[in-house]
Amino acid sequence: MSSVVVVSSENLDEKQQSLTTSVVQAADKKVNLLGMSRAELEKFFEDLGEKKFRASQVMKWIHQFFVTDFAEMSNISGKLREKLEKICEIKAPEVVHRNYSKDGTRKWVFRVGEGEGSLVETVLIPAEDKTGARKTLCISSQVGCALDCSFCSTGKQGFQRDLTPAEIIGQLWMANYSYMEDVPVAERERTVTNVVMMGMGEPLLNYDAVLSSMRLMLDDFAYGMSKRRVTLSTSGVVPKIDQLAQDIDVALAISLHAPNDELRNELVPINKKYPLQQLIAACQRYLTKDGNESARRHVTIEYVMLEGVNDHPEHAQQLLKLLKNLPSKINLIPFNPFPHAPYGRSSRNRIIAFQKTLSDAGFVCTIRQTRGDDIDAACGQLVGQVADRTRRAEQWQKKVAQRQEILRTQG
Ligand code: SAH
Ligand code: SF4
Repeated sequence: MSSVVVVSSENLDEKQQSLTTSVVQAADKKVNLLGMSRAELEKFFEDLGEKKFRASQVMKWIHQFFVTDFAEMSNISGKLREKLEKICEIKAPEVVHRNYSKDGTRKWVFRVGEGEGSLVETVLIPAEDKTGARKTLCISSQVGCALDCSFCSTGKQGFQRDLTPAEIIGQLWMANYSYMEDVPVAERERTVTNVVMMGMGEPLLNYDAVLSSMRLMLDDFAYGMSKRRVTLSTSGVVPKIDQLAQDIDVALAISLHAPNDELRNELVPINKKYPLQQLIAACQRYLTKDGNESARRHVTIEYVMLEGVNDHPEHAQQLLKLLKNLPSKINLIPFNPFPHAPYGRSSRNRIIAFQKTLSDAGFVCTIRQTRGDDIDAACGQLVGQVADRTRRAEQWQKKVAQRQEILRTQG
């Protein structure tokens, strides 16, 4: 069914009128402007018979002043505001749960989609750094994930659906807005300083929506973030890494987790399709494309520390060899256990010894702090409380029950 929204068509010539009709009729409901990139918004306004620069005006209202009511957009004529109110909206995903921790960590659970919808999570982790207070937001790109890494609770949920650009950028919008709700519009400022695409989902498998959201993050009329402060994390979808290199300049993180193919096939199954040699080569290409750009001086290597699985001294030695020709910083992530997880977290001593081997060889190697534990909010641990509704989750639960039964009968 087409929309019943009526647009005032006075002052429009015939061509503009037909374009306007198509914009309006294409929509069964109001068009959500929140997730539109600058190019899309410019086209939207042109299709309405308006000047392109309206796009940047409206973007500033949305993403810098956190205004969702067109009536408050004081530099837009009353007539256009009325028109916009009728055909579009600015709508972030619904927050069903929020939790603000004592240490400054904040977590939101959003409902996305129609009806009961699905739940996704976003977490904001504060830290002090050289430049002052850093606030890093960990954003989700999909509901669930198809890639089924064996240590990841999102993977255990299976894949439900891709998030739309409005649902992705809506997480950043909401996190900023949470500090601004009571601040007068004219005094509002963006608070989130860094974004990592490390929440639920594999961002490179929802490529277009993630790309247009990251464009908004970098856009001076939206969040204006520095490209070094926007990081995409991937488990290694090699062809998409090459596409990313062409399309945008952001920092890249690779979820490596194993230094050889045999182990990585087990932990990160997409490795069977794109083995380590191909992945490392893709990272090298990513860095050499516009190699002087500051976001591309190194890749971050994420390595989750799983007790007795990938934390032996020989794994550290293999890692050194593997990364020999790749400018990289290594981030060791203490494993976050989740119910029925088949792994344990490496001991502190083990992690420090692993770090020492890498640092002694000249690598910058950090250990991720597990902040926000009191609200179960650490990155990579984002779906603990969320209902599993997929077949894979059922199968997983069946497997766990079978294993428990075997253990019980064995005494
Ligand atoms: N799909 C992308 C981004 C989301 S996962 C990727 O895999 O990179 C974000 C990070 O959290 C990844 O490095 C992932 O390997 C890590 N992670 C997932 N489950 C974890 C767990 N239980 N403990 C610690 N880190 C985990
Ligand atoms: Fe997906 Fe990343 Fe989890 Fe692997 S680690 S299952 S790619 S979200």
